[in-house]
Amino acid sequence: MDRKPPLTLLIAAPRGFCAGVDRAIRIVELALEQYGAPVYVRHEIVHNKFVVETLKAKGAIFVRELDEVPDGVPVVFSAHGVPKAVPAKAAERGLNYLDATCPLVSKVHRQAERLIAQGRHILFVGHAGHPEVIGTFGQVPEGRMTLVESAANAEIVSPPAAGGLAFLTQTTLSVDDTAEIVAILRRRFPAIQVPRSEDICYATSNRQGAVKAIAGRCDAMLVIGASNSSNSLRLVEVAERAGARARLVARGSDVDFAWLEGVRTLGITAGASAPEVLVREVVERLKERFGVTEEPVEGIEENMVFKLPAALKAA
Ligand code: SF4
Repeated sequence: MDRKPPLTLLIAAPRGFCAGVDRAIRIVELALEQYGAPVYVRHEIVHNKFVVETLKAKGAIFVRELDEVPDGVPVVFSAHGVPKAVPAKAAERGLNYLDATCPLVSKVHRQAERLIAQGRHILFVGHAGHPEVIGTFGQVPEGRMTLVESAANAEIVSPPAAGGLAFLTQTTLSVDDTAEIVAILRRRFPAIQVPRSEDICYATSNRQGAVKAIAGRCDAMLVIGASNSSNSLRLVEVAERAGARARLVARGSDVDFAWLEGVRTLGITAGASAPEVLVREVVERLKERFGVTEEPVEGIEENMVFKLPAALKAA
């Protein structure tokens, strides 16, 4: 007889890899096939150690800056996007570069350029230091964009008066926090121009919605993702706000059985940069201690696919 305590798992849907992450990883894999190893990658291609290590094993070399890339080898820019100066520098050096910036991040870059061309100042809602924020700020001349990190920040931000205002946001924010920040900006600056369409991407919104859909039934929730993954951190917050204790785990070996003491129903989800293999690894780890039953969860079906760069498609 199985004496393990019972544990019902609700595995959120959708979860894990989004179309932008899928594309970025594919670009590195195809570059390795087409050009052979090594292929250099500027920054973590996506925020996940397992993904990075897997690509390293295939011959990718990860570096922080372009200066570390030798002449004559291909280099890939990460999914988070890069300041304009980076491809410009690569072109100047004659490097063969492939841009794995997610098309939904590129869309925000183009909007930023358009707004600056209209003479507007941009309030950018995002997290300081995140590579996507650095990349988006690097699309516009210095001083034309101001970062707004929180509701408190939105209450006191003081942009230049001339030329009109607009706001844009990072793609991986909390939908609810961003709505609050945007409401403050619109109250304080009624003429502020709103983005043509929502900047928070479909994958971020869907994963947060999927957590909300199950969190109320869960005693606790595990979010599989990296501590530097913005969308994964937001999933922890969303679960907590919906009433479930929540924790970020990188993989199965991070699961702390003591923390799960007394839990009968556990929610599991994965950030947009966490592969499904890590979800299965966490489930297998849970089975070591619990009598696990997986309850099916219905969710929004995603079928977004982004085109690969022409240079690789021809391969
Ligand atoms: Fe693109 Fe959204 Fe995925 Fe980021 S989380 S790579 S913006 S689809």
